[in-house]
Amino acid sequence: MTNARRVAIFGGTHGNEMSGITLVNLWIKNGKEIQRKGVETKPFITNPRAVEKCTRYVDTDLNRAFTTENLSAPSGDDLPYEVKRAQQINEIFGPKGSPDAYDVIFDLHNTTSNMGCTLILESSKDHFNLQMMHYIKKAIAPDSCPVLLTEHPLLKYSTSRSVAKHPIGLEVGPQPQGVLRSNIFESMRVVLKHALDFIELFNEGLEFPPCSVDVFRVWDKMDYPRDTNGNIIAMVHPNLQDCDWEPLNPGDPMFQMFDGTTVRYEGVGTVYPTFINEAAYYEKQQAFVTTRRETLVAGAIKKA
Ligand SMILES: [Zn+2]
Repeated sequence: MTNARRVAIFGGTHGNEMSGITLVNLWIKNGKEIQRKGVETKPFITNPRAVEKCTRYVDTDLNRAFTTENLSAPSGDDLPYEVKRAQQINEIFGPKGSPDAYDVIFDLHNTTSNMGCTLILESSKDHFNLQMMHYIKKAIAPDSCPVLLTEHPLLKYSTSRSVAKHPIGLEVGPQPQGVLRSNIFESMRVVLKHALDFIELFNEGLEFPPCSVDVFRVWDKMDYPRDTNGNIIAMVHPNLQDCDWEPLNPGDPMFQMFDGTTVRYEGVGTVYPTFINEAAYYEKQQAFVTTRRETLVAGAIKKA
């Protein structure tokens, strides 16, 4: 690639995830902190109506709305608000998949799960993003910064950031919906600082040698146990609650039924659960996501 000149920072893709909304609003007022030499950085609130209502979305989840079908739908008043919004965002920052699209989009999210400061990678072949994540991990060590790879034929979805050539999600928690916590706010801010520093160094012509990056690849999703009417009949087991990124082995407790009995994990081999007990995923029939560990290799990159 030639350079990473156009960079956007999205907040409010989910209107009740307060760290990204607050940071982006701060930077819209004063962008000094996110300015870097040779980079044009645009902070942007993606779902202003949901932010105003402090709700995840108004009609439908914006972070699932960037499908080819939605983006090419004839515009009209009958479209859900978030689909119209996706079309506008695609016009400003895309078009998705075209040479005119923004180089990098950071999309700032919070989770109620104990995921720490997670970077979300959409493609194992995105060497630019892998190099950036390697750089960020090194910069914030000894603090950790897990990378979640969402490359999965069925579980991948059409995110707001997917409009960019290099989409990066930031998922920081635990933080309740509608709440701002200083530690979560600060760790998001620090990761973004390092990410922008990396882009500046890249644009200055620095060569990044080959490196390897440990990632957690999305494997499967687990729903809560339910009765025949679809009602949830168990909770995340206390041994699993807050244990995002820790190994879950066959036979380990997974759910606690309301009568006190334990439901154990019966899959094959060790998995690493994440998004454990995420509030927004109850409606998506998802108690947590399982992942497997993998090491990816990033080739050397240098501005052409
Ligand atoms: Zn979110």
